Amino acid sequence: MSEHVFKKKFGQNFISDRNLLQAIVSDSGVSAGDNVLEIGAGAGALTEVLDKVAGKVVSFEIDKDLQPHLLGLGLKRTQFVFGDVMKVPTQDIDRMFSGQYHIVANLPYYITTPLLFKFLGQSSNVATITVMVQKEVAQRMVAQKGEQDYGLLSVMVAFYGSACITRIVGRKMFFPQPKVDSALVKIIVDRNKFSGIDKADFYSFVQGCFSMRRKTLKNNLSHALGINVKTLSEMLDEKTLASRAEEFSLDELIEIYKKINVNR
Ligand code: SAM
Repeated sequence: MSEHVFKKKFGQNFISDRNLLQAIVSDSGVSAGDNVLEIGAGAGALTEVLDKVAGKVVSFEIDKDLQPHLLGLGLKRTQFVFGDVMKVPTQDIDRMFSGQYHIVANLPYYITTPLLFKFLGQSSNVATITVMVQKEVAQRMVAQKGEQDYGLLSVMVAFYGSACITRIVGRKMFFPQPKVDSALVKIIVDRNKFSGIDKADFYSFVQGCFSMRRKTLKNNLSHALGINVKTLSEMLDEKTLASRAEEFSLDELIEIYKKINVNR
């Protein structure tokens, strides 16, 4: 590994601190017999800890230069997949495990949001997601209504489950050192929350609600959903229409979504 050329385009900032690696696995709650999906094996430092604890680990790595090193680790419960995780259909990944699985990863930050939506939106079997992300993104993921960071990402993460930051991790813990600090976020997926709601349609609705932050719901919804203002006034009361999306919790946005859908 000593001669590895770190590739910025793949978000390669590795962790080698044993205590931190153990803490990530401990925060994830993964225990004996559990299935784990890791995204971005890197030098395999986190993979090695997961391999000791879990029942089965599938670990994706896009950088084929790392293949000889990773295969040379001789991990017993880990199956490495060398390729881009974003290009593999989520159903195919679900089929790599029998039953539920947990995602544990020090994520390549350039794919954080699409990767979260890939698994939250498309997988039937992800139970928890414990990921290292840029600190600012973590704050947006867990923000509540009324907080500065509250927006589309906060609402959608809340839609799929409950999320919390388990620890803040300074930039010095990574090599090469990135320009930003990080945080570990754990999401516990709760499928009851979104049963009966079309996930893609609700996402488009929330995206529309937040499309222009300073604008009212009336403005944003008429533009995003193409419903004329008069029709919107028949579906929702004036106070709601004159408010901004950031003033509503997930449950309140679901209520608004249902009222619009019933009348459409
Ligand atoms: N797990 C290691 C650690 O904690 O030290 C490495 C983490 S590093 C932040 C992210 C890793 O993800 C890199 O090794 C990178 O090559 C890999 N990666 C980036 N994009 C990927 C993708 N689309 N699919 C699979 N792996 C990817």
